[in-house]
Amino acid sequence: MSSLDDGLNKDLDKIVASARDAIATATDLAALEQVRVQLLGKKGEVTALLKALGKLPAAERPAAGVEINRAKTALQKEITTRKAQLLKTDLDSRIQSAALDVTLPGRHTDIGALHPITRVLNRIEDFFLGVGYDLVEGPEIEDDYHNFEALNLPAHHPARAMHDTFYVNPEILLRTHTSPVQVRVMEKRQPPLRIICPGRAYRVDPPDPSHAPMFHQVEGLFIDQDISFADLKGTVIEFLRVFFEQDDLQVRFRPSYFPFTEPSAEVDVVCVHCFGDGGGCRVCNHTGWVEVMGSGMVHPRVLEYADIDAEKYTGFAFGMGADRLAMLRYGVDDLRHFLDNDLRFLQQFQ
Ligand SMILES: [Zn+2]
Repeated sequence: MSSLDDGLNKDLDKIVASARDAIATATDLAALEQVRVQLLGKKGEVTALLKALGKLPAAERPAAGVEINRAKTALQKEITTRKAQLLKTDLDSRIQSAALDVTLPGRHTDIGALHPITRVLNRIEDFFLGVGYDLVEGPEIEDDYHNFEALNLPAHHPARAMHDTFYVNPEILLRTHTSPVQVRVMEKRQPPLRIICPGRAYRVDPPDPSHAPMFHQVEGLFIDQDISFADLKGTVIEFLRVFFEQDDLQVRFRPSYFPFTEPSAEVDVVCVHCFGDGGGCRVCNHTGWVEVMGSGMVHPRVLEYADIDAEKYTGFAFGMGADRLAMLRYGVDDLRHFLDNDLRFLQQFQ
């Protein structure tokens, strides 16, 4: 062997030894690629040896060439093997990180629910639509005539005092009940009339457990020939028994006064909390009864205001607070809970 050949072989051995080390310790694909370029790239160490072959004596070239190429092939094979290892490790770690952990709790989606007042309104509407009433809505901003005068509420009536009514100006106000909707229907349609008017009403009431400046009412009106107080009683009692889901619910009519009905009656049901016992019960104020609506036969003057022949037609009307019915149905002791938007409260009704 010549000295040159000897030197080349030493170089080759050194390069192969350090290359094997570098390949085995390359921790990722980028590092491995760097090693490959250093060895086999255009300016790589093995490439340089092949280029140097030309300087060898012609007789030595073939044997040296075979040695270098064998080393090159061996290194290429090692790089390929290492690359496969690294790819598998990389894939394993990616699978690991993207894996589905079935022990994780699922992502929660809130689907929402109807507000308890809305549920009560729906129950009331369902009953009356089911027995042939029409549902009518009207403006919440009303004029004085429809809210008061046409309902036989003369100017001196206490309900017209400033402390009860939100006035926009002396003629325009926020309706204090949903009765003006009935007036608007009577103006346009002749009997027979069977309507309910659900909606919001407003009064200047400071909020307390049983009052709020905004509340929900459902008023009903039935006008036809030969309508009597017996029809009113039958309708109201049947409704309350269905609403409270008690077939034998005790209901009583207590004489009262409303300007737009004559005769008039407050309607009470047996207290749903103490079942009429009364003693120590705050819901019924120790009386055993709770008031749930006002009612009466439509005052002839109200019919005349609407050009309905009071000699030919009679009718009854009733009005109830949906908020109060919701309190009784769900056992809620403070009306303000319905308006607080506290999810801990509202979620109980889902
Ligand atoms: Zn009670």
